[in-house]
Amino acid sequence: MKKDTQCVQAGYTPQNGEPRQIPIIQSTTFKYDTSEDMGRLFDLEASGYFYTRLQNPTNDYVASKIATLEGGTAAMLTSSGQAANFFALFNICECGDHIVSSASIYGGTFNLISVTMKKMGIDVTFVSPDCSEEELNAAFRENTKAVFGETIANPALTVLDIEKFAKVAHSHGVPLIVDNTFPTPVNCRPIEWGADIVTHSTTKYMDGHGAAVGGAIVDSGKFDWMAHKDKFPGLCTPDESYHGITYAEKFGKEGAFITKATSQLMRDLGSIQSPQHAFILNLGLESLHVRMPRHIENAQAVAEFLQGRDEVSFVSYPGLKTDKYYDIAMKYMGNGGCGVVSFEIKGGRKAAESFMKQLKLAAIETHVADARTCCLNPATSTHRQMTDEQLLEAGIPAGLIRISCGLESKEDLIADLTQAFENM
Ligand SMILES: *Cc1c(COP(=O)(O)O)cnc(C)c1O
Repeated sequence: MKKDTQCVQAGYTPQNGEPRQIPIIQSTTFKYDTSEDMGRLFDLEASGYFYTRLQNPTNDYVASKIATLEGGTAAMLTSSGQAANFFALFNICECGDHIVSSASIYGGTFNLISVTMKKMGIDVTFVSPDCSEEELNAAFRENTKAVFGETIANPALTVLDIEKFAKVAHSHGVPLIVDNTFPTPVNCRPIEWGADIVTHSTTKYMDGHGAAVGGAIVDSGKFDWMAHKDKFPGLCTPDESYHGITYAEKFGKEGAFITKATSQLMRDLGSIQSPQHAFILNLGLESLHVRMPRHIENAQAVAEFLQGRDEVSFVSYPGLKTDKYYDIAMKYMGNGGCGVVSFEIKGGRKAAESFMKQLKLAAIETHVADARTCCLNPATSTHRQMTDEQLLEAGIPAGLIRISCGLESKEDLIADLTQAFENM
């Protein structure tokens, strides 16, 4: 199946007389005839459902579609993108471990890694997404367990050289985890370039309508955990909370990561996506391949328009020929990759505020990637916890405005921006 067909049809194939649309299995629990039947599920000897905190059929249909789209072997849904990134990292890192991460990542993930996971005893070294192989190598320690980055970073719009990061991660015997929220698998499939685990905030383009918060984790099934047994005891030694199951032995490369994250982390931390949200997410996925090109067309037009304005000191959009990431974006995505454009308005925070106040179509929102155009000044909102130094390191000056181009007419969007410049 081509990607377009996968968006519409993958994950759920109804049998004769069954519902055409994915059924919402609105049940916390599942019924069994004997305790033995249920016992086999608890022992992971049989697959099936017993409690929606761990697994639910509606979620699994949708996770399976996302796994197909990303070219992975297994996937799970989480309650949010934050939960997806936390689970992906915490599934292989524990107290005393270390992560290498791109410094250019979503503010929430930056906090998660640098503050909350640090409190759990997991250390991090941030590197520039543009670092050389030598610089990247130098960030590794004996206890490094994962490398993390975003295909296109929110909001800095830096593009990750996935092949380079994967190569270095693999040379140290650890997986590369890539947050592919912005391009979506319609524009980039990180697994094809060497990523081992892919995460998503499905809240963004996948849902695409600003309707349901959610996340997803996809496993490529390619990382050989047993070849690096000492580094990954959680996957490669018996789990006493599951009668001594060794995930990497029992479920192999293809299934170990997601099985452990489901049966251990989801069981203990409970960040499941509701089946209602999974249903809404699937409605978004059914049109993802139709919507993404339009988001990109609008963003390209808006970025080119902004480049011609005197009030603007720079525009970042990977689809612009003048953009630092143009070549790398063409390699990995073949286009600008997403509908988000960022630009610096001359005059810093003040100018950003008075410009944004004038906008009529583009609403001020802490959100990106839905059908309606919205914008944000990160320095005064999502990234306000970061110091000026950290902001610059992440490529986010105070006058930066992030505009998420929706699915409206590009002529109307440009007219709205024009009047805002004139009236600010
Ligand atoms: C929004 C976002 C997240 C966090 O996702 P939530 O669904 O809001 O928890 C993580 N990564 C990226 C790139 C994002 O844009």
